[in-house]
Amino acid sequence: MMEYAETTVQAQAAAAKALESMGQFGIAPNPHNFAVWYMHHTQRLPDLSREIERLLSLGSAFGPEVVQALHDKYLTQADETKTLAAAGLRIENTLEQLVKMFSVANKGTETYGATLSDFSERMQEGDGEALHQVVASVLTETHKMLRLNRKLGAELTQSSQEISKLREDLDRVRSEARTDGLTGIANRKVFDSSMRDATVEAAERSQHLSLLMLDIDLFKRFNDTHGHQMGDQVLKLVARTIQTCVRPEDTVARYGGEEFAAILPRTPLRDALTVAERIRTTVANKRITNRRSGQELGRITLSIGAAEYALGESVSEMVQRADKALYTAKRLGRNQVVSQYELDGSML
Ligand code: GH3
Ligand code: MG
Ligand code: MG
Repeated sequence: MMEYAETTVQAQAAAAKALESMGQFGIAPNPHNFAVWYMHHTQRLPDLSREIERLLSLGSAFGPEVVQALHDKYLTQADETKTLAAAGLRIENTLEQLVKMFSVANKGTETYGATLSDFSERMQEGDGEALHQVVASVLTETHKMLRLNRKLGAELTQSSQEISKLREDLDRVRSEARTDGLTGIANRKVFDSSMRDATVEAAERSQHLSLLMLDIDLFKRFNDTHGHQMGDQVLKLVARTIQTCVRPEDTVARYGGEEFAAILPRTPLRDALTVAERIRTTVANKRITNRRSGQELGRITLSIGAAEYALGESVSEMVQRADKALYTAKRLGRNQVVSQYELDGSML
């Protein structure tokens, strides 16, 4: 459950602003969309607000797809939390079960022990009939113990299977939380944390760090012409291609809809531009075909902006510079790589 920290007055203000924003952008005020704008106006999800502001500053349209993407990215964490809570509960239940089993086993052993010492006393009395009875009873008790042990063994096996299943579930949830569902590459969350780590490392060790922002050219037109499903296939292809053009230690992430990012640690801008150029030509040379119909769908191109980390700057400053380079690449005619040094006067 998401907790709301706002007072009634604050919540009313955020709700009013949310309705106003939705009106302004022509967005249907359904609960889903409302949640995104409400959270933005409470300023409680800084990443969400930053992304909305970034989109606003780029003059992007706020269609239902964009709001949906924002919702998925920032407001669905509750689902993950639910899965984790469920896993936690299962662990608790399993442990409880184990504790019960051990206490039953303990009682069983105690009873068996008591029976045995009782027998040994009676055996010392020594007559034949008594001895016969003793042996029979020992056998019965031993069988009981065996059954109990077997049951315990089976239950232990089951518990340990349950525990390893839980571990797999947790690993899966953890890796899903880091992966973009469509393309299988790192998601935005990983991008943000990798950028934080990479900038800290670059600063601490005085190393180069470069960042590429990559955006598919005229992708809306591609979708409109060939359909969203073919568009999705292209996104997967582009993600795979970028990944093959970088080193294993680089991080390729889906930054937003049809926008990708590549973090290149220990890489000066000059080398990053070479990598960017390689990605650009590799993608541009791919023939896009519809596998089912065999129809050729033309080529896809990328515009790429490249920036290098400057000591002391924040992650968002570096991202902004790469973004500006990307938009310069768009302005200069797309299908090209632009570095931070080719920006408008203010950046030189
Ligand atoms: P530009 O060259 O200026 O980048 O033009 P563009 O059409 O690529 O840019 P714009 O931002 O206008 O449109 C981006 C489009 O990308 C909108 C949407 O149709 C498409 N898109 C975003 N996410 C997805 C997705 O997950 N799947 C598909 N198929 N398309 C997507
Ligand atoms: Mg685009
Ligand atoms: Mg874009």
